[in-house]
Amino acid sequence: MSENGRSKTIQLPASITIRDLAQAMQSSPIEIIKNLMLNGVMANINQQIDFDTAAVVASEMGFEAILDVPDQVHEEEDGEIPLWRRIIANEPAEQLAPRSPVVTILGHVDHGKTTLLDAIRHTDVAGGEAGGITQHIGAYQVEHNGRLITFLDTPGHAAFTAMRARGAQGADIVILVVAADDGVMPQTKEAAAHARAAHVPIIVAMNKIDKPNADADRVKQQLAEIGLIPDEWDGDTIIVPISAKQRRGLEDLLEAINLVGDNMQIIANPRGQVIGTVIEAERDRAKGVLATLLVQNGTLEVGDVVVAGTCYGRLRAMFDYRGRKIRKAGPSTPVAVMGLSDVPSAGDPFQIVDTERDAKLLVEERNLAHQQAAAAPKAAITLEQLFDRFQAGEVRELRLIIKADVQGSLEPIINSLNDLNKGDIKVRVLLSETGNIGENDVMLASASKAIVVGFNVQADSAARRLAEAEGVSIRIYDIIYRLMEDVEKALKGMLEPEEKETVIGHAEVRAVFRISKVGNIAGCRVLDGEIRRGARMRVIRRGEVLHESNVHSLKHLQDDVREVKAGYECGISVKGFEDYQPGDSLECYTVEKVAVE
Ligand code: GDP
Repeated sequence: MSENGRSKTIQLPASITIRDLAQAMQSSPIEIIKNLMLNGVMANINQQIDFDTAAVVASEMGFEAILDVPDQVHEEEDGEIPLWRRIIANEPAEQLAPRSPVVTILGHVDHGKTTLLDAIRHTDVAGGEAGGITQHIGAYQVEHNGRLITFLDTPGHAAFTAMRARGAQGADIVILVVAADDGVMPQTKEAAAHARAAHVPIIVAMNKIDKPNADADRVKQQLAEIGLIPDEWDGDTIIVPISAKQRRGLEDLLEAINLVGDNMQIIANPRGQVIGTVIEAERDRAKGVLATLLVQNGTLEVGDVVVAGTCYGRLRAMFDYRGRKIRKAGPSTPVAVMGLSDVPSAGDPFQIVDTERDAKLLVEERNLAHQQAAAAPKAAITLEQLFDRFQAGEVRELRLIIKADVQGSLEPIINSLNDLNKGDIKVRVLLSETGNIGENDVMLASASKAIVVGFNVQADSAARRLAEAEGVSIRIYDIIYRLMEDVEKALKGMLEPEEKETVIGHAEVRAVFRISKVGNIAGCRVLDGEIRRGARMRVIRRGEVLHESNVHSLKHLQDDVREVKAGYECGISVKGFEDYQPGDSLECYTVEKVAVE
């Protein structure tokens, strides 16, 4: 970015994610999402937008966008080197030893990532002999030709973007799954872009070659178009045809991983400073916090005091991916650990410190930094407060982002929600998806003043933290009926309340006094009920309403009073009115708003 005197120019690629665009403009992704929404585009933070769209947003935010020359590789782009890599770079050379490559699987939805991860896991004969792998910890290892390979098993895309966002970049190699019948799709491109930005080599697994409509040549052509030139065309991208479903080509894929790994420096110091990345974490009712950590340097041991993000604790127990108790874990080993005080976020780096006291101090420091960063309080979006917003005319519909465990739960929820729509206030589902509640959902909710509703899912801790910072309400249910009940309540609050008027008293104007600086005051006698300060008031002359507003001041003798009952004399001024005449009638009333039943 550069200043050219008047407007700031910014170089943007042909396509960019909202997150990266925000970073480029040093703005918040939410501002951009809002801006896009105003232009009728719903986007989440990891979504790619094309240059033209980005340029419009940029210009509205005071930047002049210039298309970056394609194919020009910027080494410095996204070049923040993750902490663990920097630490390894500073380790004494003689202590460095090879470690197994860490692989993550990315690709477009439905191209077969999950099937492939399962298939590879089953090539692990030892795992099978151990009685099958029951414990799913978000990562596993397999052996190929006597060498271990570590796979990150979290839904690839989310894990990778979360890691990338935090500069953790945990993987050494990316397997990009492309279905041979479907070809290169938007998420294929996005994944390739992320891998490139992180300088992580890509191996393409061309999946579903068993399908009759698989078209390998077409896919290769498409890959070449996005800069992944097949090695058989003299490029440097290895493309391995596989069928994850039929478990064909898996050996070749593992072989390719070892081959690519051999050309890289996949090393660490097992005796060095312990550092790594949180792969996933959850709270288990029986076991407390269970976190999967990927050790990237040094050797983690039971009894170590770990600090991960703003969570810490002394490790009570450690398990490998097969659920077996272990005491030590070296570089590239994923381990499930028990003993952390709280649930860290996936992608948080972790380290070890000497004592729990040190850990506490470090965490306090980090918490303070977070608090300062989140100092500006955000407008909250809760079911209750939506009501106020509606009254202020800000919100005309109850916007929901719905996440459910399975597709089968989404349908009945959406159908029932549609049944709730009443009058001109509507429930609008902005997004309905299966899966846990993540940061993207909270971003979208914050930008669109929606609430996030989960059904049989969890909100990850990063999402919760963001929700807290942004004041987004997350509600999680396990019974559809309860979910509906709450939404219905919110809707009732939002339905334009009926106004119920109650006349509380009448007074008659007997005389008019002029008081300097205050204006005219009506000297009155209260005929029935009472006159109350602040209440509504009508000035009626010969049956005609001249003015309606509030009782501004109310005096009995010389004193300001709250109310004056029937039979008493008082001085009244009605807001915005001066022209009293003896004989005018003043009608005092209150207005209550009642929710529509
Ligand atoms: P993901 O969204 O990328 O994780 O995709 P999945 O692994 O869930 O696979 C999507 C669908 O493609 C499922 O119905 C799989 O059974 C199917 N599938 C995956 N791999 C293959 C394959 O090699 N051949 C065929 N015919 N179908 C496959």
